[in-house]
Amino acid sequence: MTTQAPARKAVIIGGGLIGLSIARALTERGLNDVVVLERGSLAGGGTGKSSGIVRTHYGVPSIAAMAWRSLPVFEQLGAEVGFRQTGYCVLVGEENVEPLRANTAMHQGLGVDVELIDRERLQELWPMMNVDDVALASYEPRGGFADATQLALQFGQQARANGARIRQNAGVARILTEGDKVTGVELLDGEVVDADIVVTAAGWWSGKLMADLGIDFPVEAYRSELLIVDAGERLPDLPVVSDLVSLQYCRVEGAGQFLVGNSDHEDFQKKFVDPDNYSNIATEAGIEKYAEKLMHRFPGFPDPSVTHTYAGVYDVPPDWNPVIAPVGGIDGLVLCAGFAGHGFKISPAVGDLVADLVLTGDSTDPDIPASDFRLERFAEGTPLSSLHPYVGAGEMR
Ligand SMILES: Cc1cc2nc3c(=O)[nH]c(=O)nc-3n(C[C@H](O)[C@H](O)[C@H](O)COP(=O)(O)OP(=O)(O)OC[C@H]3O[C@@H](n4cnc5c(N)ncnc54)[C@H](O)[C@@H]3O)c2cc1C
Repeated sequence: MTTQAPARKAVIIGGGLIGLSIARALTERGLNDVVVLERGSLAGGGTGKSSGIVRTHYGVPSIAAMAWRSLPVFEQLGAEVGFRQTGYCVLVGEENVEPLRANTAMHQGLGVDVELIDRERLQELWPMMNVDDVALASYEPRGGFADATQLALQFGQQARANGARIRQNAGVARILTEGDKVTGVELLDGEVVDADIVVTAAGWWSGKLMADLGIDFPVEAYRSELLIVDAGERLPDLPVVSDLVSLQYCRVEGAGQFLVGNSDHEDFQKKFVDPDNYSNIATEAGIEKYAEKLMHRFPGFPDPSVTHTYAGVYDVPPDWNPVIAPVGGIDGLVLCAGFAGHGFKISPAVGDLVADLVLTGDSTDPDIPASDFRLERFAEGTPLSSLHPYVGAGEMR
């Protein structure tokens, strides 16, 4: 439903998935003066590297609810965003049976379509998998994966159709304020763009824009390696796997290939990098480790080989959860960043939450309390944490 919005002008910094989803949501809700400013190309940041996994499994209820609210968007857009509804499963060993039961019950309480499955059922779903060390699994039949770039461009197209302007090669040098109000932004070439609302959705780079205003947004850039493996034969649409036993995640890529990501975040501080200057291929040690874990889990691949590798960067706050909130006591200033490798699947709901905050001052969804995503939680020592954390995989869930 389109509602009447006051005549205010919004600038969104960052043309990734999150900035474009916010532009889509604001214009859908009637804000017709919206400008997205992207310093490079649309989706050229973390979005372009995303594995695009769609699932609801999170230990923070509001994030699970955001993923659940977002799922129909993938289902409706379907092939337009490369959505393949393969299903999704989480595998755990004995040490994580209780958290898996508790998280799954929490998800079912939110209305999520998810069930616990035993080894036998898992083996039926995934004939090539070694299930010997899996104690229990959960299965979301409506999960899968899609293409983050296509989704970002789709949001951009929807926003444009509703009147938004999207500018590339328009880097923001600083956010402008007067007293306790935001007044716009200054671009790198000195141009000033006036605005009553400035939403910073610039991923890791949001930290510097905040720091210039004296606002402390603690965020690190964490490098994550990915492998593309040729399985040696054409693969059917097998469910996406979050393997909390071997600490890896995998999904089908194309037809006969497989995408493998690392979810072992021990010593994660050692992987903090400069996001403007990092190696875009996996290390030899990384490849060896991931290949070994992959072969353990999928011994049924007939003739596997690594075809290529790459790396992306997550924007990681101390509790691995985003800030989506007005910040700094500055009227009109909103921060939306710190998605730590999870922003894709929740991006539709994130846009809607920011539109709620800008247009009504609060979340309109009781399952997604705005207070969860306040910046102040870091300084107050009240991180947003999983209710039922997994042993050995705490940061990610
Ligand atoms: C390797 C990898 C795998 C992932 N896999 C998944 C997954 O399977 N499922 C999932 O849900 N999520 C996943 N994610 C996370 C998800 O893709 C991201 O959270 C999401 O794409 C981030 O979008 P964003 O718009 O916040 O950031 P970005 O895409 O990084 O966009 C920020 C934009 O801001 C621009 N910018 C920066 N500074 C300025 C400035 N001063 N002025 C103007 N523009 C500026 C940048 O150029 C960039 O384009 C993954 C991420 C990575 C890196």
